[in-house]
This record gives sequence, structure tokens and C-alpha cells, in this order.
Amino acid sequence: MSTNSINPVRWFVKKAARQGVALTSLASGLCREAGVRVLTYHRFGNASRDPFCVTLEDFEAQMAWLARQNLAVSLADIQSFLAGEKVFPDGAVLVTVDDGFQSLYWGALPILKKYAIPAVAFIPVSEIGTVSNNTEAHLTWGEIEALARAGIIIASHSFSHRSLGKIKLEEVRQEVVRSREELEKKLGLTVTAFAYPFGTRADFNEATIAILQKSNYQLAFTSQHGAISPKLNPLALPRVKVEGGEALWMFRLLVGGGLDAWKWIDRFLWQLQQRR
Ligand SMILES: [Zn+2]
Repeated sequence: MSTNSINPVRWFVKKAARQGVALTSLASGLCREAGVRVLTYHRFGNASRDPFCVTLEDFEAQMAWLARQNLAVSLADIQSFLAGEKVFPDGAVLVTVDDGFQSLYWGALPILKKYAIPAVAFIPVSEIGTVSNNTEAHLTWGEIEALARAGIIIASHSFSHRSLGKIKLEEVRQEVVRSREELEKKLGLTVTAFAYPFGTRADFNEATIAILQKSNYQLAFTSQHGAISPKLNPLALPRVKVEGGEALWMFRLLVGGGLDAWKWIDRFLWQLQQRR
């Protein structure tokens, strides 16, 4: 989920760190993994210094570049790739958008359509149609239906957007089953994919993976950085977060694997947390 209160120092330090990792891995070629990646977006618009919000100008430049390079793939493509049935050019990516905010509908959708880019929307079902004071409103059922009609794949981001790693297993089961059932019933479609709320190492584990498997999910995505490959568990796949306020050169590095090394930073922070 998003946090709007980004202080300027933290903003610039984080941006410098992301760009440093991307440029270093470009220069060294060391940490880059060959393969396909899944990009994570959240909101679109003009919130300044909000890493969760990408401007529509930047998003359009990114989608236009993906279309020119012919790098955009669909969720079905990713499934075929994981099954070893399909190969893609190095740097192919799937676009995903988390949290079900309305700017996906009025902002991103026309751009996705214009450039024929496939995308997946991960929806926290209890938040559908809700308005909060500190961020934009969530999609309504009608808007989600329109996204589905436009070819956007609708998938689950749990029911109430809680960390699955921090609640009882019975509650995990309810989060994953209830969200899928409500989406399927209201929209008349089949939900096969899931994105873990928050998606850090603390937010999923072997038990949550087993529950997703029993609940008929085929693919699940974390927020851990890296490329995906057929040797990975399809219910704990990494993604790469696209942040607001980054130039097209940074986006091109992300797509090419420039932030794969960020997973070592994620892991380091995880270990620090465990020690507390
Ligand atoms: Zn989320």
C-alpha cells in the first residue's frame, strides 16, 4: 500500500540508491539475471515525490517504448514461459498494477489500450468502491468490469490487504478464497493469479504458499526483486517496482534487470528485521 508522507531526504537517498544499483549492475553485468520480469505499478497522476505514483506522461513514454521494443507479454504468456512452453526475448515484461485505485481506469487504461499492452490488475476486494482521506478512491465494481471488458486480467490482492505472514492460517485461507470467489461471482470470470499484500519476505511463507495452491491459484507474485524463470516456485514469483519520479533511462534499466541486485538489499533488510 502507499504512503504519501515521503520526506525529501528519504526520497533523494532512495532514488540515488536505486539509480546507483541499476547503473552499477549495468556497468558490472554481475548481478543481472537473464529472463522475463514482472513490473509493479500502483497509482498514476501528479502526486509529487510519491514513489507509488507514476505520472501519465512517464507511463505513456514507458508503454510506448515497450511497444516499440515489442517487450510486453501477457499473464498467459508468463504461464507458458514457466511451463517451459514458450521463450521470450531477454527483457520481456508483464505489466501489473496493485491496489485497485481509480487512476488505473481513467489514467492508465487508455494508454494500455493505445499501445496494446497486456496488463493484470491486483484488486483488494474489501476496498472496492471505497474512498479514503489520504489517497485516491478505489475502483468501483462497474469500473473493474470495464477493465475486464477491455482485456485487463483481474486478479486477487487478497480480501482486506493484510499481510498474510502476520495473520492466522485460517484467516489467510479466508483472505485468498473469499477474494477469488467474490471477483469470480460478480464479474463472471476465473481468477488464477494473486499478489501478496506488501509482498516482502515477512508477508508470505511456505504455509501461505500451500494455502494458495490448495485454493486453485496458479501464479502468485511478491514484491521481491528479480527475474522470473521456470525453476522458481510459481506461487512466489518476484517482481520489479516501477517508481514515480524516474526517467525513461531508469525504466529501461529496470526492464533489462538493473534492479535485480536490489533483492540483496531486500534480503539484508529482512535479516536485520529478523534479528530485532
Ligand atoms: Zn498492495
